[in-house]
Amino acid sequence: MSAPFREAWPKLGCAFDDFIRTTEPRHEKWAAELWRRVKANGDLYLGAYEGWYCVGCEAYYTEKELVEPGNLCPVHKTPAERIREPTYFFKLKSYGERLLAFYEKYPAFVSPTSRMNEVKSFVRGGLEDLSVSRTTFQWGIPVPDDESHVMYVWSTRSATTGQRSRRIRSFTASGRPTCTSSARTSSANTRCTGPRSSCRRASPTTSSRSRCSPTDF
Ligand SMILES: [Zn+2]
Repeated sequence: MSAPFREAWPKLGCAFDDFIRTTEPRHEKWAAELWRRVKANGDLYLGAYEGWYCVGCEAYYTEKELVEPGNLCPVHKTPAERIREPTYFFKLKSYGERLLAFYEKYPAFVSPTSRMNEVKSFVRGGLEDLSVSRTTFQWGIPVPDDESHVMYVWSTRSATTGQRSRRIRSFTASGRPTCTSSARTSSANTRCTGPRSSCRRASPTTSSRSRCSPTDF
């Protein structure tokens, strides 16, 4: 399953330092550590989530997204179930103002500008706390100290990459992001807003290669 993802990056002109699967023990270890740190910071609480759930997708849908009549999953075209389950929430709502202040301070953090404007508009529209655990299935990384929950897979993606690269820390320390993406033909699409010395691009002008840290499913 991982091979097509592994093979895709060279075709895109990317070289990666590491290839991490979320089933690897090192990912589990750091996802658990990330959870503990976020909890210690007071950003997690236990609540309940209710919504329209598709077992095939293992995902909730809003009423607008369902296909009528019959409340069908837009992907599977089978009836979604109304489910209420306990879940841990991340206090995303409390980060809205801080995010907006950050975007003002670092306008090149998201590019192009039109996309940054979309992001800011989304945040200004009001953030909701994020459901970050599941009890409706067992596969996944158990929540530390509450194994009736597994961490929602999307909430753990950055755990290992952030830990191993220290790029997050250097970002925090310098206050500026480092090189973030690449393109085969257009260097204009390779955004490097950090100091030249921290840019991880192999060649800033002619090479299509950048160093990415893709995460596998
Ligand atoms: Zn579905």
